[in-house]
Amino acid sequence: MRYCFTDRFGGRSEGRYESFNLALHVGDDPLIVAQNRALLSQKIACENLVFMEQVHGDSISIVRDVSSPKIRRCDALITNLPDVALCVMVADCIPVLLHDSHTQAIAAIHAGRNGVAKKIVNKTIQAMQETYGSSPEDIQVFLGPAIGSCCYEVKEDVTAGFEGYVRHHEGRIYLDIMQKCLDDMCEGGVSAQHINNAQICTCCEENYFSYRRDGVTGRFCGAIVL
Ligand SMILES: [Zn+2]
Repeated sequence: MRYCFTDRFGGRSEGRYESFNLALHVGDDPLIVAQNRALLSQKIACENLVFMEQVHGDSISIVRDVSSPKIRRCDALITNLPDVALCVMVADCIPVLLHDSHTQAIAAIHAGRNGVAKKIVNKTIQAMQETYGSSPEDIQVFLGPAIGSCCYEVKEDVTAGFEGYVRHHEGRIYLDIMQKCLDDMCEGGVSAQHINNAQICTCCEENYFSYRRDGVTGRFCGAIVL
């Protein structure tokens, strides 16, 4: 298994997308994004990259075939195919990568506020159980840079479901989606010792794209391959 989280450096994009933008939906030049994706292929040593059309939902796509590329409208990908890199694009949402070394299955998950509220990580682990016979206690988790509760200010109306993960400071409200995601995984049977957390806030740390900080901007990614 190989995995990586990219940052905003080392690509070809310019301006707001400087420079390693991997997303086609943010207004960047598609030819340059294709070059950046080719650079990602080199970085992870895999020609078959599978991206999602991410929609902040909780649907999961099983990758069984990469010979006919299709648009996968979902927020999680799972596979047990070798040499297929599952990719999740983010700029504040949590990029979650999973690996079960017993059954040799992997996943890439886009976990934003909606996804975390819908427990998309636990649902993906369930899908790995049903599809490949994975056990939650065998799964290794890799969490990339994502917006921290230091910066994720929200309005009261989106705090439903996050009771216990809301921080009040000087009249403002902040959400801790990462802690909720971690607690839900552990409740679902994942061992805390198997969780590797980058512990980097995208909004504080300018090496990463941040939608909250920059508005129109690029996307970095998490990618995993068997
Ligand atoms: Zn921050």
